[in-house]
Amino acid sequence: MNAERMRLLNPGPVTLSPRVRRALAGPDLCHREPDYAALQTDVCRRLLGVYPETEEQYTPILLTGSGTAAVEAMVGSLVPPNGKALVVANGTYGERIAAMLRAQGKSLDLVRSEWTEPMNLAETRRRLQSDGGITHVIAVHHETTTGRLNDVAALGAICRERGVALLLDAISSFGGERLDFAAWNLEGVAATANKCLHGVPGMAFVLVRTDALHARPSGACGLYLDLFRHYQEQRGGFPLFTPAVQVLYALQEALKELAEQGGWQARQKHYLHLSRLLRDRLPPLGAPLLLRDDPALASMLTSFWLPQNMEFKNLFNRLKERRFVIYPGQQALQEKIFRLAVMGDLTPADLEEFITVFADALFS
Ligand SMILES: *Cc1c(COP(=O)(O)O)cnc(C)c1O
Repeated sequence: MNAERMRLLNPGPVTLSPRVRRALAGPDLCHREPDYAALQTDVCRRLLGVYPETEEQYTPILLTGSGTAAVEAMVGSLVPPNGKALVVANGTYGERIAAMLRAQGKSLDLVRSEWTEPMNLAETRRRLQSDGGITHVIAVHHETTTGRLNDVAALGAICRERGVALLLDAISSFGGERLDFAAWNLEGVAATANKCLHGVPGMAFVLVRTDALHARPSGACGLYLDLFRHYQEQRGGFPLFTPAVQVLYALQEALKELAEQGGWQARQKHYLHLSRLLRDRLPPLGAPLLLRDDPALASMLTSFWLPQNMEFKNLFNRLKERRFVIYPGQQALQEKIFRLAVMGDLTPADLEEFITVFADALFS
């Protein structure tokens, strides 16, 4: 193993495995050749295979862009021009979805909770009961702002009961947590290559319930992020515009690796094992858990309060010298917390070393 290997504990992009990195150097390929269509078709098949219950009723639509592109394409295309969205937010990513809809000129309502609190399901139910015009509920699965895994099962049950479709930002959970597509009434799920799937940044995708792509016109107000246009073109095996070909090679390899390692279930177990080390050992060193040991913690990310008298920047620099990259809090939580994600090609030995280095940084 490369002695200079950097260990990224930020929530994406992730530390690459050697085989995914090698895949980036695949052959030059024009995206109008049959070999490209074979690659795209194979990646789509493998994406559905991550959650095999999607194979019958969902279509993956690939986009060249970061995770935000997939979320923006999903909410822009699937909420129709005369539709109305109810956004349920308890963090920066949920609030960003509301900002996207506003920028798109879409009608929306927002149920907002404090970032350290769960989604407000009682209020969501009330709004759905009182406003029959809501066509879509939109939420974030793993709210990366804090590390909370939102109770989408409960939210999905409310949506099903009201006959309203649910759109989910699963950017930081797809491939590492359970997703129950039918029970949660999911019409669209946005995800990316470079978080739990361990690929390279540059491609993202939306799994869309195929019937929705035939039932109504697109809600998109532009071209590049119109899922309906991409769908029509990608059905033939080819992309609408120039894709990040090398990133797709890497994603294909990452999906092979995930399947060989035992799929999302094995990956979730691996993440929980790594996160457990951090959750058990950092609080006694003076870095308590932001969400305590809430059963709603996502498997792959934990937020910790910064130790007293320790500035984020200092801690970051000390750890960076030892080839570990940590991540700050956002907005109100900036300068108060730090976040540790265990996605990517990381081992228990990496985390043991991290804990030692972290203790050194505090006490030397
Ligand atoms: C990372 C993340 C995004 C944004 O992804 P980018 O690749 O940075 O555009 C959106 N939602 C959630 C929940 C995320 O964790």
